[in-house]
Amino acid sequence: MKEYHPPLGSREAMRLDFNENTIECSPRVRDRLAQISAGALTRYPEREPVEAIVAAHLGLRAEQVALTNGVDEAIHVLFETFLEAGDEVLMPVPTYTMYEVYASATDARVVTVQAADDLQFPFDRLVAGITSQTKVIAIANPNSPSGSVATREQLLELARRAPQAVLLVDEAYFHFFGETIMDLVGTLPNLVVARTFSKAYGLAGLRLGLLAGPVDLMRWVRRVLSPYSVNSLALACLPPALEDTAYLNWYAGEVLAARAEFEAALDAAGVRRWPSRANFVLVDIGARHAEFVRLMRDAGVLVRDRSRDPGCDGRVRITIGTRAQMKQAVTALNSALSALQTGGETR
Ligand code: PMP
Repeated sequence: MKEYHPPLGSREAMRLDFNENTIECSPRVRDRLAQISAGALTRYPEREPVEAIVAAHLGLRAEQVALTNGVDEAIHVLFETFLEAGDEVLMPVPTYTMYEVYASATDARVVTVQAADDLQFPFDRLVAGITSQTKVIAIANPNSPSGSVATREQLLELARRAPQAVLLVDEAYFHFFGETIMDLVGTLPNLVVARTFSKAYGLAGLRLGLLAGPVDLMRWVRRVLSPYSVNSLALACLPPALEDTAYLNWYAGEVLAARAEFEAALDAAGVRRWPSRANFVLVDIGARHAEFVRLMRDAGVLVRDRSRDPGCDGRVRITIGTRAQMKQAVTALNSALSALQTGGETR
């Protein structure tokens, strides 16, 4: 079984390693947190009223939405609900590591489809990988670590070609991409969409995610989901987070502007990169990727080595923060690259 240990030790630096919001959440969330009384903490959390608020925000019915302890719990619960011995879970790779981690905790077989060197969504080969045993297809859209996307038509076609399977479309990075398939939840009988509050909303520490799908599938999901996995602080903060669209739009806009500037700096430095629709960019550093990551950390910037992802040897993922942060990151990047070129770094 695959285990996952996030490389989280001592992150007192610029955090461009976990695709989080790199600054802070909405002030409305912080104000709400400050109002929570000691008495309120004595109660068990009540998820349903907040699920109704989130469902209305998404244009869905409350029964179609389940809040979860981050999308990680959503993936875990979905896999536990729909996978058993003899089943197959199909996914393109490289992709978000936790799909394979949670799939390997079930008795299902993991079937991966390697993307080509361009890391574009391998649609035709995924379709070819569908069998009568395929019970879950997991797609991150946009994908991590590549930043590439699947089109709505491709996702629809996958749902149609695998009616026996649940198609999980993980829209963790939706706010940076802007395209969604959420409007088809309830229309397609096997589509389940995941969203997180860990990225654009800046609430990774609160652990909040959701699954949205047809009522009959969500009923099964709720049987497996713990009633109290979303704590009361997270539940209290969700409505003000949803209401503050001005903050969300500002942050996403800031990241997109910073991404364009950072991509231009990568091009100027001659670093190969993959086109991204999310708040990160995958770059090709080559054989000295580990030294590069160390040099960046020494310069106060944390980035993520993705060399162990399938087909990603030598590649490093860099989260996009604000324009001011990315200017600092470019300075660190350029001096790390020149240190690598001169061979000055030998550790
Ligand atoms: N899905 C994808 C594609 C991700 O990249 C991540 C975070 N790295 C998650 C889900 C996990 O989100 P959460 O913090 O809500 O568990």
